Amino acid sequence: MRVGVLALQGTFIEHIGILRQLGVEAHPIRLPHELDTLDGLIVPGGESTTMMKLMESFGLLQPIREMAQDGLPIWGTCAGMVLLAKDVFNYEMETLGLMDVKIRRNAFGSQVDSFEADLEVPLVGEEPFHAIFIRAPIIEEAKLGVKILSRLPDGTIVAIRQNRLLACAFHPEFTDDLRFHSYFLNIVSQKLSHNPEDGILRGSRLGS
Ligand code: GLN
Repeated sequence: MRVGVLALQGTFIEHIGILRQLGVEAHPIRLPHELDTLDGLIVPGGESTTMMKLMESFGLLQPIREMAQDGLPIWGTCAGMVLLAKDVFNYEMETLGLMDVKIRRNAFGSQVDSFEADLEVPLVGEEPFHAIFIRAPIIEEAKLGVKILSRLPDGTIVAIRQNRLLACAFHPEFTDDLRFHSYFLNIVSQKLSHNPEDGILRGSRLGS
């Protein structure tokens, strides 16, 4: 399993560290050709406008959109979630535009309004997930086909999944809790086992 982490800006080192801890081949991605043969991609937290501009100038936008359409699993954390959304309130920039959600950036205020919370995320396990929110966005509206994975106690949506796309408003890459990363890797392995051609190739490689 080869998982790429967009490495133009933001929390890519933390994501790569956790993937390697989980025994996955993790690659920093900066150029379009590095996307070839990836089984999954993480768009990290950071600053969405900066990341978007860099993706545009490095020629990554179109290839990532096409790979998503072909079913590549992609996970966005915080700024990464902003970039996956189709609709971002009060945001002039274009995004990757992959998930049918409406997002509000910096929804809790400025840096000093950052906070931590123990969230119920039943799909990653029974124990609450300790989530770190830093100038976090929220999901204001999730359209049909978007599954809500977690909410804050006041009902605010903070984690979602749509087919093989996953997004959360917080930073699992800043904690020692590997369950969110494992959940994403499950999506990646399900994709691999559902792609017969890929499965045969991988099976024969493993068998030789
Ligand atoms: N506020 C940032 C943005 O919208 C996201 C912050 C983060 O990733 N921690 O770009």
